[in-house]
Amino acid sequence: MSERETPYQQRRRVSSVRIGDVLIGGGHPVVVQSMTNTDTADVTASVNQVAALARAGSQLVRLTVDRDAAAKAVPLVRERLDAMGVEVPLIGDFHYIGHKLLADNPACAEALAKYRINPGNVGFGEKKDVQFSAMIETAVRHGKPVRIGVNWGSLDQDLAQRMMDDNARRAVPLDPRAVTREALVASALQSARRAEELGLARERIVLSCKVSDVQDLIFVYRTLAERGDYALHLGLTEAGMGVKGMVGSSAALAILLSEGIGDTIRVSLTPEPGGPRTQEVRVAQELLQSMGLRAFTPQVTACPGCGRTTSSVFQDLAQRIEARVHARMTQWRETYDGVENLKLAVMGCIVNGPGESKHANIGISLPGTGEQPSAPVFIDGRKVTTLRGAGIGEAFEEIVEDYVRTHYPKKSTKGDAPAAAE
Ligand code: SF4
Repeated sequence: MSERETPYQQRRRVSSVRIGDVLIGGGHPVVVQSMTNTDTADVTASVNQVAALARAGSQLVRLTVDRDAAAKAVPLVRERLDAMGVEVPLIGDFHYIGHKLLADNPACAEALAKYRINPGNVGFGEKKDVQFSAMIETAVRHGKPVRIGVNWGSLDQDLAQRMMDDNARRAVPLDPRAVTREALVASALQSARRAEELGLARERIVLSCKVSDVQDLIFVYRTLAERGDYALHLGLTEAGMGVKGMVGSSAALAILLSEGIGDTIRVSLTPEPGGPRTQEVRVAQELLQSMGLRAFTPQVTACPGCGRTTSSVFQDLAQRIEARVHARMTQWRETYDGVENLKLAVMGCIVNGPGESKHANIGISLPGTGEQPSAPVFIDGRKVTTLRGAGIGEAFEEIVEDYVRTHYPKKSTKGDAPAAAE
């Protein structure tokens, strides 16, 4: 009996695709990507949002290219980002008239690092193949990879109808939902094969089949992974707002990622009105980090609190440390190697506090209700001090700063002299 592939082995056998300097598939770490919601034709707004997403950790950023003004803006956005030192690859999201926009705007075709094509939205009837082919040929000419991105909401209707008709002729027809799932997978795989026939290498193709239902998404991606070795872009489409969007995306993506399915992810959150677009990047990073697949930022373990923590001191400190770590991370990341692996624990009382604190690099166990007003601090499993009084927060922050300074090697900068040869 053959042994089951590990998730890592599963990811390694997938084709590796280069998008600018970012590699996805082929066993490379799962890549976080995001999408702007600015009008791409508004160059300043788009530059600012792409830069914010990139600084938050998005390794690829997609923009809508929906009309000529947007296509003309893309090279300007690229130039401005380059001038700011923001090198994140840009992906163009095309629907309906992508073939024309790319043909009319070669500077846009060149400035983009990848094109996203939705086979359900490239045209109807005979035009469909002609327009799809034109986009693929442009990608081949410019040496660009393509994501063939099928979506439940814009599934190729001709294909879906044909498959429904075939199903109706079966002795025992399948559930229409099962046929739609099959149609999604078929649309992606048939389009990928057509792209290869047109000269686009397999190492330039990424597939996605996004749906908004968790169980459908899991089924569709398992099927895609079984039937091909294309790199896969994973995401629950129209995940929704706030907690619902985060939980739905995490539930679906975690199951697939733990099976080794998915090479790049996007969390499609609807931002709160006026809320930051970068939240989707943070959620994607937290998801990968909580699964042990990537490390982006120090993790703060905190207990949920209970009847033993009747004051807000414990929540205040947990929140304060979490905020402090995020605020300091931009500088820490540039200065210290490996600081993203730091683990902190802020615990509410003596029951689990000292034990959990010992498992972290730095842990503090606050006094629960009725306990002595003292907070033992543990560093790498050893109790080093006990904090008391009103300044516990500041003192703990200083301990964290000192640990980072003394435990993570400084990154070398361009001006540093090379180490002497032995
Ligand atoms: S560590 Fe203490 S305060 Fe926190 S949940 Fe456990 S018993 Fe409650």
